[in-house]
Amino acid sequence: MSQVSSTPRYSPGSSLLGHYSAYEPTVGYPLRGPELLQLPSPSSRYAFSTSRHLGPAPQAGRRSESSSRALVGPRVNTNGNSKSPQGLVGLRNLGNTCFMNSILQCLSNTPDLRDYCLRNTHRTELNNNCRAKAALMEEFAKLTQTLWTSVSSEAISPSDFKTQIQRYAPKFVGYNQQDAQEFLHFLLDGLHNEVNRVAVRPRLPSEDIDHLPDNEKGKRMWNKYLEREDSKVVDLFVGQLKSSLTCSECGYCSTVFDPFWDLSLPIAKKGSGEVSLTDCMRLFTKEDVLDGDEKPTCYRCKTRRKCTKKFTIQKFPQILVLHLKRFSENRVRTSKLSTYVNFPLKELDMREFCSENSMNAVYNLYAVSNHSGNTLGGHYTAYCRNPALGEWYSYNDSRVSPMSSSQVRSSDAYVLFYELASSHSRL
Ligand SMILES: [Zn+2]
Repeated sequence: MSQVSSTPRYSPGSSLLGHYSAYEPTVGYPLRGPELLQLPSPSSRYAFSTSRHLGPAPQAGRRSESSSRALVGPRVNTNGNSKSPQGLVGLRNLGNTCFMNSILQCLSNTPDLRDYCLRNTHRTELNNNCRAKAALMEEFAKLTQTLWTSVSSEAISPSDFKTQIQRYAPKFVGYNQQDAQEFLHFLLDGLHNEVNRVAVRPRLPSEDIDHLPDNEKGKRMWNKYLEREDSKVVDLFVGQLKSSLTCSECGYCSTVFDPFWDLSLPIAKKGSGEVSLTDCMRLFTKEDVLDGDEKPTCYRCKTRRKCTKKFTIQKFPQILVLHLKRFSENRVRTSKLSTYVNFPLKELDMREFCSENSMNAVYNLYAVSNHSGNTLGGHYTAYCRNPALGEWYSYNDSRVSPMSSSQVRSSDAYVLFYELASSHSRL
């Protein structure tokens, strides 16, 4: 049973953490239980944590890398006035691989990740202890380079990349339709592991930080995370979620901080049928009452009490990935919600969801992975804003076509990619 107390007294898998994937799995990828990443999963509000390979080791130093996008690479013309179709190249469908193509195009249009690949920075950060020997990162970088340096607009085949992703995550062997968000998780996790700047993850002693103020606690937990997980992928995609649990009897409040790679938002319901992204965020962060069988044990009362639980964002990532939970499962079947979720292309203001008011949390949209159809048969496409041209394009496997920004919002939108507005002044 869970307790009302500070971290690490929540035990993974408890009712408190029912909305999370396990925070600290002790096995690496190939051994990871399918329950962690099985989608669609109605009970996971956000469901991703990196696989960790526990190892006793001296602590590896971390360094931070400030990104600059002034230079993209010798062969890439960021002015966009060249005739070469930089970033406007399609990916061939190898047989139900539209889920993969959709995500690859979204990631390829993530400027800092693209530049990381174009400059071959990943080669200087390869993690020699990684059992995959960095083949996935290398293929991902190659593919990104081809998409951005190809002199022909002919679609390219991602088959070498597919070979690597299925070596890393065998569930992608074959040609079945897969969930794009799940694929994104596996891919980012795989890339991260191969370029983790921490050579061997240190075993960190548990520290008593209960007495610290929440902010300080959050910082400590974040630094602890970075001592084990530190890569370009983490720099870009990982944020920190704060979960607060308050006892209804004595008012004791305990907090837990967890890293997140994306947020899985429940789709709000409203009479009119149309909801906003902010409605979904409000639902995600809505205070929940834990009562009855769910009653946690209060750390101060030393007995089970009715408690309230609430999420806030302690640290926003540079790239905020928002997954709309369109798929839900019940005992009989999986169903899809095709609710139109209205989301802003510019200036998504997330400040009301911050633990601290002062935080910078205004985002601009740059890519969307769309799912059309239903659970029996569907198709994935991507809409991406070309970082060099500032224009939106539709990526439908091999076909890439210009589109109006007014068409970006649709009831097919499934995974939204936002970039912190202040991280780059250019739009
Ligand atoms: Zn209490």
